[in-house]
Amino acid sequence: MKIDRILAPIETLGPGQRLVIWTRGCSKHCRGCANPELWDIAGAREYAVGDILQIIGNISSTMELNGITISGGDPLEQREELLQLTESLAARFEDILVYTGYEYRELEMLWTGRDLERLRASVAVLIDGPYREEENRTDVVLRGSANQQIIFFKEHLKTLYEAYLQKGRKIQNIYMGRQLVSVGIHSRKETQP
Ligand code: SF4
Repeated sequence: MKIDRILAPIETLGPGQRLVIWTRGCSKHCRGCANPELWDIAGAREYAVGDILQIIGNISSTMELNGITISGGDPLEQREELLQLTESLAARFEDILVYTGYEYRELEMLWTGRDLERLRASVAVLIDGPYREEENRTDVVLRGSANQQIIFFKEHLKTLYEAYLQKGRKIQNIYMGRQLVSVGIHSRKETQP
């Protein structure tokens, strides 16, 4: 799987203390995308799903993790690897949040019923749709723009997410080696490394 980075603990991309995986590769090229450097797979680290599970296991042995967020890039452009990863993680993490530039209704047309069912069974929450710069508002929490939907495959997590959404957007600065990375949903004029 083509990965750019894995960071934890992150508190600005979903409830609780989370591990966040940024995949590489996205063909959408939305205007104003916060992570254009992740469009191209060049420069990605290539990991087998088993290696990613090992990394997550190592990190989770050193800190409490309440959930996993998978962002990008577009993780769904690596469909099979993504599904293998979420299916493997689902036994251990109930709260798996995945971002995609596809709208869910597009997936219903593009994906097989079986793969859609695998996604729905292993992922708790999907945030869907392309980023639209003109719909980036500060009251839109956890999403870059208002057109994106928060879709609950695990309905019982809705209350937890609603409480998180009430808190508004937050940005967390975290060091990746010597590089300071700003993580969260950014307003239009802000930039994200
Ligand atoms: S789908 Fe997401 S990662 Fe891809 S270009 Fe749009 S905002 Fe950027």
